[in-house]
Amino acid sequence: MRLLLVEDERALAAAVGRGLREEGHVVDLCETGEDALAQGRRLSYDAILLDWGLPDLDGLSVLRAWRREGLQTPVIMLTARDAIPEKVAGFEAGADDYLPKPFAFEELLARLGAIARRAGGAAVLRTEAGDVVLDVRRRALARGDAEVTLTAREFDLASAFFGHPGDVLTRGELMTRVWGPDFDGEPNVVDVYVGYLRRKLGHLASARTRIETVRGLGWRLVVAR
Ligand code: CA
Repeated sequence: MRLLLVEDERALAAAVGRGLREEGHVVDLCETGEDALAQGRRLSYDAILLDWGLPDLDGLSVLRAWRREGLQTPVIMLTARDAIPEKVAGFEAGADDYLPKPFAFEELLARLGAIARRAGGAAVLRTEAGDVVLDVRRRALARGDAEVTLTAREFDLASAFFGHPGDVLTRGELMTRVWGPDFDGEPNVVDVYVGYLRRKLGHLASARTRIETVRGLGWRLVVAR
């Protein structure tokens, strides 16, 4: 699954993130409510793990804002607050599940498993754009019987595009998204990888789904009619 983990306690975030990646999930981390709000809008996730107590905007406000905007991603609230009124507030705000801290990692996995099953399993592991499928489990692009596998970077880049077909993604956004906010290498690494991804899309012989350059802005995934 593609997961967004929102947690400001660094040690906990690192441990949970590592555990989830070892289970084969793709995990993005946000440490503040504002970052989480933006990240949840920017990319589509299969589930979001949302801490209640954050340094700026609390998790409940973040969740309310997402739901108001129509975001339907399943959200598991993580919190030390175990009191009934707060639990009720969480569910009323649109939480799908609630996990009091401290929790056993196995329990988190079990709850994620339940969410994946409710979502229909296969649906959360594939994203389609036109006639091309991004297959999360196989880390590949597929069209009919043809398939090309992606490197980890290419996969993250493809996920950004497939999560937002039609939207312009800037070089800066892609760099932060795929290489991380602390990356200080050459910005044109993004251009290079967009080139790799284009070539792989080209191997699928699909003229319909392609990455288009939007001059001066960035790129977008387009599906020709
Ligand atoms: Ca916290």
